[in-house]
Amino acid sequence: MAQAPGWLEIPAGHPFGLAALPYGSFTTARHAAEHRVGVAVGDQILDLSTAASRFLPGRADLFSSGSLDQLLGAGDAAWAQVRAEIGKWLTDEAYRDGIEDLLVPAAEAELRLPFTVADYVDFYASEHHASNIGRMFRPESEPLTPNWRHLPIGYHGRSGTVVVSGTEVRRPCGQVKPAGHVSPVFGPSARLDFEAELGFVVGTPSHLGEPVRASKFAEHVFGVCLVNDWSARDIQGWEYVPLGPFLGKSFATTVSPWVLPLAALEHARVRPPSRDAELLGYLAESDDWGFDIQFEVRLNGHLISRPPYATMYWSPAQMLAHMTVNGASLRTGDLYASGTVSGPERGQRGSLIELAWSGREPISLPDGTTRSWLEDGDQVDIAATAAGPGGSRIGLGQACGTIMSAESHPA
Ligand code: CA
Repeated sequence: MAQAPGWLEIPAGHPFGLAALPYGSFTTARHAAEHRVGVAVGDQILDLSTAASRFLPGRADLFSSGSLDQLLGAGDAAWAQVRAEIGKWLTDEAYRDGIEDLLVPAAEAELRLPFTVADYVDFYASEHHASNIGRMFRPESEPLTPNWRHLPIGYHGRSGTVVVSGTEVRRPCGQVKPAGHVSPVFGPSARLDFEAELGFVVGTPSHLGEPVRASKFAEHVFGVCLVNDWSARDIQGWEYVPLGPFLGKSFATTVSPWVLPLAALEHARVRPPSRDAELLGYLAESDDWGFDIQFEVRLNGHLISRPPYATMYWSPAQMLAHMTVNGASLRTGDLYASGTVSGPERGQRGSLIELAWSGREPISLPDGTTRSWLEDGDQVDIAATAAGPGGSRIGLGQACGTIMSAESHPA
């Protein structure tokens, strides 16, 4: 029963069935300069900018800019109203004539960055990822730092270099200090990596000085997207003490073009794993925002990992509460990412540094080559599905990127 009956034919089991309805921004060859808000449904995109002007004129201004910015800022009542209307248009025969001509084949559309990214924060919420990194970097001590079970660790990243799936990523140059060298050297990163993450897109802003409680998560967060937090491990390793990630991360972060609203994830909600440490009050409430979201990571088309989001230790509601507990305010378009999603099994690790254990156990690809780190020309595709109604799976789309050489020039 994944699909409600209706006039629109969607292939059975399609990840973009009527239970998904993710939002994005697109252009077509015919209107290359005109960005439009779209909703993915099956292999088509509904031109929401025009549909709203026809059937929801009171909300048409939310879609006129062609980005999700206005919808994000409109608040949860508007989000619910728009989603209900779209569901009606795509099923009720009465809307068929006015909607059918607004469906664009997805293959003919170019997908754009869906919203203006305001602030960008990246967390570190997977116990398995943090433990793996700890074992590699600090083999003599406890894998998790003393603070890890008491607060969701994060850092502020660079929002201006968040790019949409399909954007090529140039190998960054920077300072690195190879083993055995007395002084650092400058050059292209030789340890380029990906990190498969889930991103949370903030809609409703908050006031400076007023913390946002975890229980207000669904009022502030509009939905989720996929994130690839590209990481230059050699640059990162030399620069990160004592202030954390900087140029090893900020050169590019790829997001999926589709933002799946929280409303689509109601069947995917699970309780996060039980936690050992006693939490301070602001982190103890409303921790039932885990998700049955299954990631798949492909390198040059070959499946190399299946990280399970349900294993994440910290929930996005706790991340939100922690990010604002000092009074820092939220802006519409803020993006915060979960941190690398890694499960307990080897085949569930969400980064190459874990899969190849910092170069000590290179992974093999079907073409006979091995990888410890990404090479020029490598393509990384991060995809995911979430539990939907009636045992179905709904799609989050893909975050894809190909590595260009350090000498190449972006198109
Ligand atoms: Ca990360």
